[in-house]
Amino acid sequence: MKSTDKNSQQNKFKKKQSSDTLLYILLFVMLAVLVGSLAWHFWPKETEWNHDYKAELDEKLTSPTAKDVSKLIQGNRSRIKKAKRVLEGKVRGRTLSDKEREEVKKELESVEKDFEKLDEDLQKVELKVLEEVNPSVLADIYSQLYEQGKITVRLKDKTSVGRSKEELKKQLEIQEKWHISEEGEEEIEKEMDKWIKKWYFQAKKEMIESGKYPLLTEYVVPRWDKGRKIEGQPTREQIDKYKISRPITQKNGGTKMVDYSKKLDINFNGCWGFLAEKDKKDSSEGKETFGLTRTIGRIFLYSEGGKLDKENKPILPVPLGFYLVEVAEDNRLEIKMGFEKKLFFNRLGHEEWLTEVKDKEGRIYFDIHFEDVVETIAHELAHAIVNTTKGDYEGEEGGGHGAFFYEIMKQIEEMIKNSPDSDFKEFEEWWKQPEKEQKEWSRDSVLVVKKSHWDEWKYWYIGGGIGILVIGLVVVVVVVFWDELTGSKKNVKN
Ligand SMILES: [Zn+2]
Repeated sequence: MKSTDKNSQQNKFKKKQSSDTLLYILLFVMLAVLVGSLAWHFWPKETEWNHDYKAELDEKLTSPTAKDVSKLIQGNRSRIKKAKRVLEGKVRGRTLSDKEREEVKKELESVEKDFEKLDEDLQKVELKVLEEVNPSVLADIYSQLYEQGKITVRLKDKTSVGRSKEELKKQLEIQEKWHISEEGEEEIEKEMDKWIKKWYFQAKKEMIESGKYPLLTEYVVPRWDKGRKIEGQPTREQIDKYKISRPITQKNGGTKMVDYSKKLDINFNGCWGFLAEKDKKDSSEGKETFGLTRTIGRIFLYSEGGKLDKENKPILPVPLGFYLVEVAEDNRLEIKMGFEKKLFFNRLGHEEWLTEVKDKEGRIYFDIHFEDVVETIAHELAHAIVNTTKGDYEGEEGGGHGAFFYEIMKQIEEMIKNSPDSDFKEFEEWWKQPEKEQKEWSRDSVLVVKKSHWDEWKYWYIGGGIGILVIGLVVVVVVVFWDELTGSKKNVKN
């Protein structure tokens, strides 16, 4: 009996010991889970970027054209400008943390320096000439610009903070449904036409009629003469040879004598409406340019027996004594401009046009701030003014269109913003107050975001989980130290 008693007591002791160990392990695991979940929750998370260079810069090319290079320059320029805008705190809802600011600032400074240096070098060359004469140098420039482009894309991603996935998805839905009716389009066209005409003629008065820049008075540009291609600018003698009265075949099939020795007529005909896909495809503008200016009426005259390809270049071999001269059909040029429809989505209060929302981090979008609207108008008006003067687009300083262009653009932007009779304010008011139908749209498009179940309840789940863990811990502690807390102490005393 005694021995069995001893045995059973030993057994009991062993059992108690093993259950205690189990409880200790459980206690430890629960504590670890609690600490771990708290750490996970409060640990600052690094954003994992998945930069989509192709979406912003297109596929990297091995034999780029002058057009591709120009597009890259304009895109980089625009992305740098916009990253700066965010840094200066000018973009609603996009605030960076101190750490993010420092990171962006550092990267911006380095890419801006490189961009400016390359720009300076490009000032001395003409891309179109390079494309023909030295394509490998052009490819090298393109490659450098592409690498800078990657940095600017990273900058764009890093300054794109502050929008939740739900908000973005909701906007995508709105974008898909958004449309402008025919009447709406007409109203926009009429209004845009009014403003750009006003500002074009104001700019013309200030810049051309004041004598600041000489007016373009002729449009006779010989490209080939005496069976030879003219490299660079044609001489005065070569131009005068073709500045004569000659019969021109009109669009209706008839012939008309046009006297090219008379002064060229330039007509600014305002806004034609929204851009079509086709318009954009042929342009050398970067993706961020939301307008297009067309000079209509240019035709090519050439000697009999010659033939031109799609780009109006003669098909070789050319006949003996071949000439090719670019003129204005009626000795009259017409300038018109169109605008990208997406820009008008800003009128509903949206500042981005989304093209893609990624499952993980990031989105692909175009900025459509009101500031971009003003910039687009100034950009297109600068084209109209440059095309009205003797200036040209040579030299790439400033990115894409040359120094002369950007000088004009800057002046026009300032002119618009400071335009007299509070013109600009009136324009801004019109822009920000869309017509009835669009107003309904903007009411619907206010981003009332319905959160997902997890998003709405996640803090309850986390809180509940931690609560259960704490209760569990207390229970375990009580069970483990039960003997010390209660009966066992009495036993020891007995
Ligand atoms: Zn342009």
